[in-house]
Amino acid sequence: MKACVLSNPAPVETRPLVLSDVPKPVAEAGEVLIKVNACGVCRTDLHVVEGELAVRKSPIIPGHQIVGTIDEIGADVGEFKIGDRVGVAWLSRTDGVCRFCTSGRENLCEFAEFTGWTRDGGYAEFVAAPANFVYHLPENFSDLHAAPLLCAGIIGYRALKLTEINSWPGARLGIYGFGAAGHICIQIARFRGADVYVATRDRQRHQQLAENLGAVWVGDTFDAPPVALDAAIIFAPAGEIVPAALKGIDRGGTLVLGGIHMSPIPQFDYSLIYGERVVRSVMNNTRADGIEFLLEAAAIPITTSVQTFPLDKANEALVALKTDAIRGAAVLQIAAGLS
Ligand SMILES: [Zn+2]
Ligand SMILES: [Zn+2]
Repeated sequence: MKACVLSNPAPVETRPLVLSDVPKPVAEAGEVLIKVNACGVCRTDLHVVEGELAVRKSPIIPGHQIVGTIDEIGADVGEFKIGDRVGVAWLSRTDGVCRFCTSGRENLCEFAEFTGWTRDGGYAEFVAAPANFVYHLPENFSDLHAAPLLCAGIIGYRALKLTEINSWPGARLGIYGFGAAGHICIQIARFRGADVYVATRDRQRHQQLAENLGAVWVGDTFDAPPVALDAAIIFAPAGEIVPAALKGIDRGGTLVLGGIHMSPIPQFDYSLIYGERVVRSVMNNTRADGIEFLLEAAAIPITTSVQTFPLDKANEALVALKTDAIRGAAVLQIAAGLS
């Protein structure tokens, strides 16, 4: 099969992903083999490709927002049949027995595997995945538009949960950085009745999209929102946003950091977190998060803005993501004829 293979992490401008012919994977016991139709491009893929995340498997095929159809079923898999349309996300497998897994926090499992980092992902024509972590997808999303739901969407959903906003109507939520996750997250928050304040760079793409999606206020990354926020989420990987965002948060409010990697957070005065403000990160998601999110996404329904690239342009897609040139989400179109 054709796949984009990373042998040595390097700046994405040097084109480290190489389109190669590699053996088609097989479905081991407990796994399904999926023919990949589309795969979303996530900032985490950029961190894998550029080496900000430590190498866990090499060579590696990145990609963890996979939409495809079941092509082969391994032993001991009951739930799926050939041809089912499914999705694969970042959390590939957990051990199921550790103190986190047994307390409803499998996203924190210390022995988890991750799609496109510790095992091969979806920048390829086929991928094998543990069946217990594969999602059925709502029918109202096309393959291309479903792909960004599988990480950007689910992580945005979990970030909203971690804001601990209990009463959404009229709640004031800040979103810092308005890429793939932000543009889905705002739709959930708005659907629940929140007022959303978006601070992001790039007038033409991100600020415009935020306005179109109903933000009550849109400013530049370091502009102060006009009201004290009940909570905020930072999707941009820039630590210097943390103190700036804390200044905009009301007493008792939570600041959620949505990325897997962030540049160092500058020192700041205690007064910025005094008043029982909370700063916390998001780490992966539970399967329950994914299932709940997909149901809510279908009910709203969420509209994803996607910019597509062919598989042999994966490096270019990552360059575009790195340089903020994507409006919404980047998606690799791997099967022909998708809409
Ligand atoms: Zn575990
Ligand atoms: Zn991701």
